[in-house]
Amino acid sequence: MASNANPDFKEVVVIGAGVIGLTAALKIQEKGGYHVTILAHHLPGDPKDAYYASCWAGAHHVTVAGTDPRQKRLDLETFETMWKLSEPDADTEGLFMRLPQTEYYRHKRSSPDALELMPGFRDLEPEELVPGTQSGLTYNTVNTDVPKFLDWLYFRFLFKGGQVIRTTVQHISQVLEGGAGAFDRMKRPRVPDGIVVCAGLGARFLGGVEDKDVYPMRGQVLLIRAPWVKNCLSMSGGPGRVWTYVIPRRSGDVIIGGTMGVDDWYPLPRPETSRDIIERVLEVTQEIAPPGIRDKRKPTVEDVMPLILEEGCGFRPSRKGGIRLESEVTEAKSGKKVVVVYNYGHSGYGYLSCFGSASMALELLEEKLVRLNNK
Ligand SMILES: Cc1cc2nc3c(=O)[nH]c(=O)nc-3n(C[C@H](O)[C@H](O)[C@H](O)COP(=O)(O)OP(=O)(O)OC[C@H]3O[C@@H](n4cnc5c(N)ncnc54)[C@H](O)[C@@H]3O)c2cc1C
Repeated sequence: MASNANPDFKEVVVIGAGVIGLTAALKIQEKGGYHVTILAHHLPGDPKDAYYASCWAGAHHVTVAGTDPRQKRLDLETFETMWKLSEPDADTEGLFMRLPQTEYYRHKRSSPDALELMPGFRDLEPEELVPGTQSGLTYNTVNTDVPKFLDWLYFRFLFKGGQVIRTTVQHISQVLEGGAGAFDRMKRPRVPDGIVVCAGLGARFLGGVEDKDVYPMRGQVLLIRAPWVKNCLSMSGGPGRVWTYVIPRRSGDVIIGGTMGVDDWYPLPRPETSRDIIERVLEVTQEIAPPGIRDKRKPTVEDVMPLILEEGCGFRPSRKGGIRLESEVTEAKSGKKVVVVYNYGHSGYGYLSCFGSASMALELLEEKLVRLNNK
């Protein structure tokens, strides 16, 4: 039974099919009373592209909310949802891997911090630290198998009657005037009730939004085949802010990284960076090298090179001031009032805040729709 059969349903158009657009679209659809269409240039399953950040993430759940109450709420709600989805024997268990996360810092860590709210949290003892670090912590969390999770969100949305149109929106006024119908000749143009902008880095260029606070933070990673890796860790901080991490997935693939290139628009992996990543990871842990080698001697970069499945990089959609989660009412040409919700700028924490952001986007949408209908 497709939801578009009901003429009383409100029409909502979501721009973007990354993890943020997909979770927002699903959340609105599952609330009931909405017919949701996604308009997007990139879709799950597409060849990887630096501009489609969602295909590059690790993705571990390491909140960087610190003491920010809004970010804490988004990240913790997402963790609780993912923890439930990853329960042993749940249908969705295979999308995730539950495991301990260890964070090493080259500085003394500051407290309080949102990470202290995670299950099993404890500070590392001095003897557990690795060379070059001054503090550290560990807790229990969940890693997401990104390609599978995106497919799951996408197909769940479609199977529940959602519609997807592959297109590039040039200006938000196109959606305001004709809704999804402006992008599909088989549909009747119709002014929507709501538009949710989840365009990631595209928010910088999308006409009518053009948010110049949005910028790329380029992240280069290696996908290696190393099913023996069971520890998820990062090392960060210090003056150079170099960030090194290992993120194992349930499939046996492991993402190692990383880099944080602010305003770095180069869309291809740099070979010298890949080598540097392996060298840095081996300084923190030798677990990425095959056990047969580790047992006999100190592993080298050359021992890890044959394990590489893919080198790549993606542009984290960063934003000065953090995530934009706001709403406004705009008048379409016809005079109809349309609620526009903005949900973009998730930088390096889009997976770990996706479900919380989706809930807030839905709240913002409904708050304004209720007010409009009460007039
Ligand atoms: C190397 C790397 C590692 C990362 N690791 C982690 C991690 O471990 N944990 C974590 O939580 N996060 C991680 N992230 C961050 C995470 O990937 C992003 O925060 C998240 O993917 C952002 O999702 P998004 O949907 O906002 O953007 P995107 O995935 O970029 O999607 C944007 C969507 O909008 C569409 N779009 C844009 N403009 C238009 C337009 N004009 N018309 C139509 N469609 C448009 C695009 O086609 C696309 O569908 C990592 C990112 C990188 C690059």
